[in-house]
Amino acid sequence: MKNRQRIILSILLVNLLFAAFALGQSRREINFPDILGYKTLKCDLHMHTVFSDGSVWPPVRVDEAWREGLDAISITDHIEYQPHKDDVPTNHGRSHEIAISRARERNLLLIKGAEFTRETPPGHFNAIFINDANALAVEDLLEGIKIADKQGAFVFWNHPGWKPEHKGWFDFHTTLYENKLMHGIEIVNGESYYPEAHEWCLEKNLTMMGTSDVHQPFTLLETSPDKHRPMTLVFARERSIDAIKEALVEGRTTVWFEKQLIGRKKYLDEIFKESIEIGKPYNKYRETIWVEIKNSSDIDIDLERAGTLGPGQLTLAANATTILRTGTGAKDEEIPAQIELSYTARNFLIAPDKGLPVTLAVDLK
Ligand SMILES: [Zn+2]
Ligand SMILES: [Zn+2]
Repeated sequence: MKNRQRIILSILLVNLLFAAFALGQSRREINFPDILGYKTLKCDLHMHTVFSDGSVWPPVRVDEAWREGLDAISITDHIEYQPHKDDVPTNHGRSHEIAISRARERNLLLIKGAEFTRETPPGHFNAIFINDANALAVEDLLEGIKIADKQGAFVFWNHPGWKPEHKGWFDFHTTLYENKLMHGIEIVNGESYYPEAHEWCLEKNLTMMGTSDVHQPFTLLETSPDKHRPMTLVFARERSIDAIKEALVEGRTTVWFEKQLIGRKKYLDEIFKESIEIGKPYNKYRETIWVEIKNSSDIDIDLERAGTLGPGQLTLAANATTILRTGTGAKDEEIPAQIELSYTARNFLIAPDKGLPVTLAVDLK
């Protein structure tokens, strides 16, 4: 090959490489509205790497989370369970140290964390926002959690229904709860939802958490309404680690799990209201009207009629416009300025098996 051809070929190759690089730098964002003046941050605060029993090198967790549209993650390798220790030395802070520069490059918030891993009961607990994971490796679990607390940790109880034969709330949890050493519970972990944990969060005002607890590599290329990891939506005053911590302490979360949002009524109410837009009737025939409803969130909203007007079932598809055809219940000459359709959003869970009551208000004039 002549020199000139070689140079042209190299330029082409370099261009191709940069083109590929540039393509790899965009991601699809996850769509949930900001609410109540807070930013809605998408967080997964429980996962593993080769530094405990996971099968990936730490920066891979950052790449996956970025690609899937997340804002923040925490790598929470097991303190007491180190099956790779013959190959990867035990150093509980190391996964975070290795991942942090990638997180900075990706503008992903990486929160320092670790998982206490004891027999069930009392089970496993994550401590996040810690500053020294190695200091948590002590004999006594309560002592370890107190050390985490002194470091300013937010502590949550992991997968409380993991071992059905041992599930339940034990004295140890009461001790943590009464001493304000446990601040939240996973109501969702991986593929499981724990209704009793959901009840405990409501009763005891604990923060609802939903995490992937992933050990294997994630193979998703992007998040979609149909395929996404379980995550916690955190309503934070800004996109920062401090603001996430403040929001978690105050319980400002909702969990996105499969095709459901699970959280406190006040947050689900707002997400619903901010996600949908109801148009004016664009067609009318006798008592019947046609209206467009736009849902700009990443969740199909499953509605079931709770009142007298509107279809029995209605799905407001994610990121789409749905046509609603409904009777107004009024004769032409007495049409009111507005009608209200009462529904239950069945997949917006405000308690186990309890959907969110919503109203679709349609302006007729
Ligand atoms: Zn665990
Ligand atoms: Zn875990």
